[in-house]
Amino acid sequence: MKIICVGRNYAAHAKELNNSVEEEPVIFLKPDTALLNNNQDFYLPDFSNDIHYETEVVVKINKAGKHIDEKFAHRYYDSISLGIDFTARDLQSMLKAKGLPWERAKAFDGSAVIGSFLPLADIGMISDLSFSMNLNGQQVQSANTSEMVFSVDKVIAFVSRFITLKTGDLIYTGTPQGVGKVNVGDNLVGFLGDKELFNFKVK
Ligand code: ZN
Repeated sequence: MKIICVGRNYAAHAKELNNSVEEEPVIFLKPDTALLNNNQDFYLPDFSNDIHYETEVVVKINKAGKHIDEKFAHRYYDSISLGIDFTARDLQSMLKAKGLPWERAKAFDGSAVIGSFLPLADIGMISDLSFSMNLNGQQVQSANTSEMVFSVDKVIAFVSRFITLKTGDLIYTGTPQGVGKVNVGDNLVGFLGDKELFNFKVK
């Protein structure tokens, strides 16, 4: 499986990092070795002093597709979760300044936290899902998928023009504003609506 991530998909977050909102989705990939599931501890890597959390709604692809039309995109997923796109912000800033790819800052081991999945049918419409994340008991991110610049279906249509989607692939749909640094001992708890989907510690 592969992990496809969307960057700058919430205007307020693009603004907080002084990025422009693009006319097409910004996408990047993480390898399967980035996955961190079952509320395992996240270990801060030694190559960064500024690891940021990015809380994101995650869609699991349930059948293979290429050149998927936006109006049929909803047929390609039926379960949803919440994850963290951990980002080595210091490394990413250095790579961006040099015009280099982001992989070292985005694709490292444990950088794709994934919560438990819920059937979409049980939680509502993909275009109207509230989600939030509490850091040490304080809510630091809160948004609704209606605020996305590019909807899930638009992202699927766009990505599948370039990359064949396969069963089990995950799409991280971008983070809203409120990203920030994690430190040893932190506890991150993610909610989709009022359902807790992940709860893990930083070591
Ligand atoms: Zn992200």
